[in-house]
Amino acid sequence: MRTLIVSDIHSNIVAFDAVLRDANARGPVDNIWSLGDMVGYGPHPNECLDTLRGFDHVSVAGNHDLGAIGAIYLGTFNEEAALACEWNGAQLTAENRAYLEDLPRVVKQGEFTLAHGSLRDPVWEYLIHEEAARASFDLLETPFLLVGHSHLPLIFEEIIAGPNSPSRVHAMGRLNHGSLIHLPKDLRLIINPGSVGQPRDRDHRAAYVMLDTDARTLTQFRVEYDMETAQKHFADAGLPPSLAERLAYGL
Ligand code: ZN
Repeated sequence: MRTLIVSDIHSNIVAFDAVLRDANARGPVDNIWSLGDMVGYGPHPNECLDTLRGFDHVSVAGNHDLGAIGAIYLGTFNEEAALACEWNGAQLTAENRAYLEDLPRVVKQGEFTLAHGSLRDPVWEYLIHEEAARASFDLLETPFLLVGHSHLPLIFEEIIAGPNSPSRVHAMGRLNHGSLIHLPKDLRLIINPGSVGQPRDRDHRAAYVMLDTDARTLTQFRVEYDMETAQKHFADAGLPPSLAERLAYGL
């Protein structure tokens, strides 16, 4: 079974299509797990949701998904993000709005738990430091946690307590194109696959992770996509130019 793990698509259908093509070219994709923020920032919320919903998939809600349907306060968003989020909300079909309204914030799938931010705060927390990882490991009931939100492909491990030693959390750093993780039996992991539609690790390429449940591996991939076309779509929609410009810098 091959599960495509994506996060933070952010209404960037050009990037999402490139990820789907790349993932399929590496072998059949059986299902998709989405870690939230399918919408917001970009020009194609319905296209991204329709595409995702065409697959056997599970998804959790991100802050932009909730912002677009008016379920959370947008006052903590910066001005451009809030503007784009409201614009995204106004584009939603009734079906896609209802879909976002029904999304859970935390989901378990076998050995994995899925959340957008963290387990301590699934909507808002950026899980980028060991302290936040510690808090989520304490709440985690499965061996592995998948999160998005920071748009940074990261991995943390928890060395499980022995008879004479407490458990320890360790930031293992960044996932890069081709990074291969063998799912361990004696460690717990938190993994962020990075962002499809708006990477922020100074690599503009769309990011995703493929889970192979037979081989018990996770592999990170980065994919080039048609940046010029993607940026043109932002301009055509009248979205703030800075939101299109940042895509090229991976910021
Ligand atoms: Zn996001």
